[in-house]
Amino acid sequence: MIIHMEKSHTENQLHRLKEKIESHDCKPHVIFGETLVTISVIGEVSKISLREIESLDGVAFVTRVSKPFKLCSIETQRDDHKVRVGDLEIGGNSFVTMAGPCSIESEEQTLRIAHAVKKAGAKILRGGAFKPRSSPYSFQGLGEEGLKIMKLAQEETGLLTVSEAMDLHGLELCYKYVDIIQIGARNMQNFSLLKELGKIDKPIVLKRGMSATIEEWLMSAEYILSGGNDKVILCERGIRAFDNQYARNVLDLNVIPILKKLTYLPLIVDPSHGTGYRHMVSPLSRASIAAGAQGIIVEVHDRPEEALSDGPQALLPEEFSGLMKDLRKISEALDIRFISDDVEKKKVA
Ligand code: PEP
Ligand code: MN
Repeated sequence: MIIHMEKSHTENQLHRLKEKIESHDCKPHVIFGETLVTISVIGEVSKISLREIESLDGVAFVTRVSKPFKLCSIETQRDDHKVRVGDLEIGGNSFVTMAGPCSIESEEQTLRIAHAVKKAGAKILRGGAFKPRSSPYSFQGLGEEGLKIMKLAQEETGLLTVSEAMDLHGLELCYKYVDIIQIGARNMQNFSLLKELGKIDKPIVLKRGMSATIEEWLMSAEYILSGGNDKVILCERGIRAFDNQYARNVLDLNVIPILKKLTYLPLIVDPSHGTGYRHMVSPLSRASIAAGAQGIIVEVHDRPEEALSDGPQALLPEEFSGLMKDLRKISEALDIRFISDDVEKKKVA
């Protein structure tokens, strides 16, 4: 149930409404939009009659949410929701680029790549310190040492940072060192982790599980929102299908228009894991911005043949720089605000 307050409502009226909701053992979740105040009611709402709520002073109108995901539903009609990270606002009519190596391998490697992606205009550096690998014998990431390197790269370049947490211990460490916490495909339904993410105030990139339905994915976002953290950025990273001979996954770009109908949460696309091959990354990135995604997260490595993970899908820095120029052109054609450094903008323009 979503309750829309009149613009002129008073604090007292809002308070009485909350009390009424609580008297039915439900939870009011107040959302202060730029111009509107709405209340999502969570719990066994079938017990509450629309009439009863509508008759209260200060209430404009009430609607029932038909979907199982309530807080992240478009039906809450939040005006122009964005996720703030540092001085950036992700979402709305803007496009952001996150780029960097799959894994943090060393200080030298990370700083080299960080400078390269910054020069090309990226605003956010990606890099994993805790790696979810199919084999226990593969490189598992540098752990806290890797996160310290991310912090150093942030200080040296001014880039914001994103890194993956796989468990509660990793979450505590990521919280300390990076700006955005990534939840990987394999953990999209790690419910105890999702509950903890609800309690923190940092933005979360929530990747789609490799065989998750759209509704399961949104229900995972709902876990985070219902815990109190609405800074969720959804990330499509490809799903498993029957043919993985020529591509690692199937990058499901269908979700871009679908999610626009279902949720106000920003959506970014990961064409690196979504395809698995370098030659596919730029075409799918261009398709993503053209279809309405609000960003991409891309793997970049200057020595991909030496990479400790995912070398075959990493763009070379010069390829990434070319991609950024293409994305900027598309954004201009479509009137999308392209988030990148002004220095680079001047150079390209
Ligand atoms: C990654 O971003 O490095 C990663 C492991 O992604 P995913 O969870 O999408 O496989
Ligand atoms: Mn990777």
